Amino acid sequence: MTALGRYLLANGRVDAVLHVRADDRKPWLTMATVSKTPDEVLAGAQSRYGPSSPLIHIHRLLDGGKPFAVIAKPCDISALRALGRSDPRVEQLIPYMLTIFCGGVPSAHISSAIMRHHGVDDQDVRLFRFRGEGWPGPLRVQTRDATIYDLPYPDGWKGKKYSYDVQFRCKICPDAVGEVADISVPDGWILRYGKPVFDEAPGINVALVRTAAGEELLNEAIAAGYLEVSPVSIQEIEQMHSEKPDRKAGAFTALLALRLIGQRAIKVSGYRSADALKRAGLRSFFRQFAGAIRRVIDGDNREHLI
Ligand SMILES: Cc1cc2nc3c(=O)[nH]c(=O)nc-3n(C[C@H](O)[C@H](O)[C@H](O)COP(=O)(O)OP(=O)(O)OC[C@H]3O[C@@H](n4cnc5c(N)ncnc54)[C@H](O)[C@@H]3O)c2cc1C
Repeated sequence: MTALGRYLLANGRVDAVLHVRADDRKPWLTMATVSKTPDEVLAGAQSRYGPSSPLIHIHRLLDGGKPFAVIAKPCDISALRALGRSDPRVEQLIPYMLTIFCGGVPSAHISSAIMRHHGVDDQDVRLFRFRGEGWPGPLRVQTRDATIYDLPYPDGWKGKKYSYDVQFRCKICPDAVGEVADISVPDGWILRYGKPVFDEAPGINVALVRTAAGEELLNEAIAAGYLEVSPVSIQEIEQMHSEKPDRKAGAFTALLALRLIGQRAIKVSGYRSADALKRAGLRSFFRQFAGAIRRVIDGDNREHLI
């Protein structure tokens, strides 16, 4: 996505790219940013596993009247498409919407827990990078005196130390795969015996092109030398991201459970709920349904203030 954003700005295809980067003053947090140069897009590369609000700039950019691209989470892109139904400027001014695969947004408490784990005071932190410098690369905390504290990706995010402390809103999300973006980008995990391994490897990602605009952009960026591609099969993508169909079905099941017991839910349509439920099967349905009810009983469907 960074390469695509750089291509768009370098070739004058858009005036700006709206995305996120590390917060200038509190690098363990994430801030929305409007990049006007390819280098600024590069400064926002890499996933930030924490809360982000790229859309805070959207009305200002739409009011500006110049075309811009958006790189954001699937839920941000869904919100933009929804806005586009009542504001025609969305279609006129945002020719490209790009997104990540998103397993859910961890709370900002995770970053604090990681700093505590390293015994680092947040005032001393100069850099907090969730991954990078390799692929997936370590979760790095660097202090002002240049001391580096690294956690390998599996320790940071795959449940060994800080399992995703994901907001409830993400647990009822029907779209971890960015269905309404022009291009969505999952990690291209290395497969061993049909299962993903999270060892360090040359960084390769997968681009899922979903619209004609996305296809045109990808092909142009390849022709201009910004990207190189090679084939990947649907089967390989399914093996890399085997949990996603179950998550999609789980989201619809949870939404149904929430409605039936009078709890707040989100309104979703057009995300292939029937297909997902059929694919998951009855057993999975009852398991996820019971899980949703249990979460409500435990109060997990409410935002905790501290
Ligand atoms: C919260 C979160 C959950 C994720 N879950 C999954 C998953 O379930 N499966 C999977 O395969 N990959 C997941 N990823 C990783 C991500 O999908 C891949 O790293 C993706 O392949 C990155 O593509 P890229 O190399 O083109 O991105 P890059 O070229 O590195 O660009 C990343 C772009 O995304 C933007 N960005 C980064 N973090 C955020 C954020 N929190 N909110 C909004 N925009 C952001 C940056 O501003 C940047 O423009 C997740 C990432 C995040 C941030």
